[in-house]
Amino acid sequence: MATALSRLALLQPRSLEEALRRLRDEGPLVPLAGCTDLYVGFHFGTVGGRRFLALQGLRQLRGVRRRGDVLVIGALTTYAELIASPLVRRRLPILAEASREVGSPQIQNRGTLGGNVANASPAGDTLPVLAVAEAVVVLRSVDGERRVPFGAFYTGYRQTAMRSDELIVAIEVPPVEGRQWFRKVGTRAAQAISKVVMAAVRAPRPRIALGSVAPTVVRVPRTEAVLARGGTLAEAQAVLMNEIQPIDDLRSTAAYRRRVSANLLAQFWRETARRGGSRKGGLP
Ligand SMILES: Cc1cc2nc3c(=O)[nH]c(=O)nc-3n(C[C@H](O)[C@H](O)[C@H](O)COP(=O)(O)OP(=O)(O)OC[C@H]3O[C@@H](n4cnc5c(N)ncnc54)[C@H](O)[C@@H]3O)c2cc1C
Repeated sequence: MATALSRLALLQPRSLEEALRRLRDEGPLVPLAGCTDLYVGFHFGTVGGRRFLALQGLRQLRGVRRRGDVLVIGALTTYAELIASPLVRRRLPILAEASREVGSPQIQNRGTLGGNVANASPAGDTLPVLAVAEAVVVLRSVDGERRVPFGAFYTGYRQTAMRSDELIVAIEVPPVEGRQWFRKVGTRAAQAISKVVMAAVRAPRPRIALGSVAPTVVRVPRTEAVLARGGTLAEAQAVLMNEIQPIDDLRSTAAYRRRVSANLLAQFWRETARRGGSRKGGLP
């Protein structure tokens, strides 16, 4: 392990208010939720801080509930809880579907939605789902709360709009009209980071988002527009292959990612055209 754990300090606040105060007054502190990403960082010596703020005890950040017609998902909600949640399965089934494809049961039991969002990896499996759901990231600091539309949350590769004195407290999801669709393509079914991951909604103006094909998760508005105006699938595929900016890396090549993205677009479009034909995740 590149980071000696004995040299790290762990602060354990008993309330959200205490956590936010310590984040402001005793920083810099690194928030620590399920620790599944941070632990990998310890192993490789890439974690930038030595003092950590444990969020696990903050019950306010847990659970899934409704506020009016908005689904409110606490930042500490784990993948296992998302998979088990009747509200998530009914309102945003592709989030449960994406959660089932994260890591392994061990990771699903510890890893949190807030951690996936804050970690800001372009390969994060829940991020395309939150992008097509037009979710809102709820940030809180000592000074109050602010809501950032998901589309404005990522400002660059591994960069977010979150300040160092803020925590993600929840993700809010408005009602999603239209058939939902999700697919992750990786080396194998479990314990694989995606080569391409796509979430989509079949609505009058379709919504499509992809991960692992650009520095951040992306919506593809030009491709969406082709489908919305009744353009052909072939035309939409050609636009999509230009609209994304994949790279060659150890998991895949840019050419493969472009081809797979176009194939996923076709799969989404054909499967959701069939009567009741959403892949696993259609709204009831
Ligand atoms: C073996 C393995 C397999 C994995 N497989 C997948 C996979 O298939 N798909 C996938 O998407 N991910 C995968 N991951 C990555 C990881 O499990 C997820 O990103 C997970 O959701 C991170 O959540 P966490 O609670 O463990 O975050 P942590 O590791 O605790 O934190 C991650 C980052 O988020 C910050 N943070 C956490 N919570 C908050 C908050 N509430 N407010 C502000 N900042 C916060 C932390 O400071 C840190 O920078 C895998 C990881 C491992 C080790």
